[in-house]
Amino acid sequence: MNDIYDVLIIGAGPCGITLTTELKTSNVKVAIIEFATPGGKINIAPRVDNFPGYFQIPGPQLAMAFYQKTIDNNIEIIYDQVISLTKEENLFVLKGNFDTYKAHKVVIASGTKERKIGLAKEDELLGHGISYCALCDGHFFKKKNIVVIGGGDSALKEAIHLAPIAEKLYLVHRRNEFRAEESLINELKAFSNVEFVTPYMPKEILGDDKVTGICLENVDNHEEKIIDCEGLFPLVGQIPNSQFVQIPNVLDEKGFIPVNDKYETNCPGLYAGGDILPRDIRQIYLAVDDAKAIAKQLLNK
Ligand code: NAP
Repeated sequence: MNDIYDVLIIGAGPCGITLTTELKTSNVKVAIIEFATPGGKINIAPRVDNFPGYFQIPGPQLAMAFYQKTIDNNIEIIYDQVISLTKEENLFVLKGNFDTYKAHKVVIASGTKERKIGLAKEDELLGHGISYCALCDGHFFKKKNIVVIGGGDSALKEAIHLAPIAEKLYLVHRRNEFRAEESLINELKAFSNVEFVTPYMPKEILGDDKVTGICLENVDNHEEKIIDCEGLFPLVGQIPNSQFVQIPNVLDEKGFIPVNDKYETNCPGLYAGGDILPRDIRQIYLAVDDAKAIAKQLLNK
């Protein structure tokens, strides 16, 4: 492709989509590059709470509302996966699977993906009992035992979605304290078929061609415990989608992207917003706020 964009945005999640809408009212030549479904990770969220305008909304419905904005505003969406991002002279060069794209400015809003627990068979049994998405796969485990691993908002939210489906749901967490919001913990505790199993670490995934259980180890006394289950949902945090960044000094040691108060990275012309920023709390409204602030910078308002 020979076009040079004023701004290319990597990632069509809440940050990227909000940014395109903010920029669309100007004369900026902008496009958004996305390799999966527009809307980002909200597509697999069973439920989003307290997003402005909604008390509760299923994730895919909110994702569709975001996507509709890009359609209504005639925003160009390029369906491609960015493999490398470099800077040559004063232009950013984005190599994708299908084409190469150039821009004067780039905004990285590529978010995060699920962190794995790192046990043998985790990859092998993916789709054979292991899943990272309750909304997509929960129905496979109707009236079966399900184990959810993790103590953050993701684990609790997915567990709340899975509890009514499961025969019994075990929430396994390595500490007795939880990172998740108190209200989510109380909501999950209210289910009569839910058992909290703490402080336990997952030790071994059991089963040959499908999950049959999990072996856990007590963090305090090292005693082992086996839970029979057909469904296993490891939800132990996020890792940044930033492997494509080949510009020096942009990533921190974990692969997140630090920015200053103008959302500028260490590389002039390169901005970042949303879940890819190194912050403790990752919420949709923060990603939307980031987009609005980045738009102001890009439009010199
Ligand atoms: P998180 O908050 O980082 O929680 C990860 C959990 O997994 C922690 O409880 C952690 O234990 C545990 N863990 C990490 N590595 C582990 C391992 N190897 N084995 C066993 N357990 C392990 O991640 P998250 O829940 O995905 O949330 C990420 C961000 O998104 C958070 O800021 C969260 O608030 C936000 N979020 C918000 C919503 C919402 O609707 N408001 C929904 C989902 C996510 P320790 O606690 O001991 O470290």
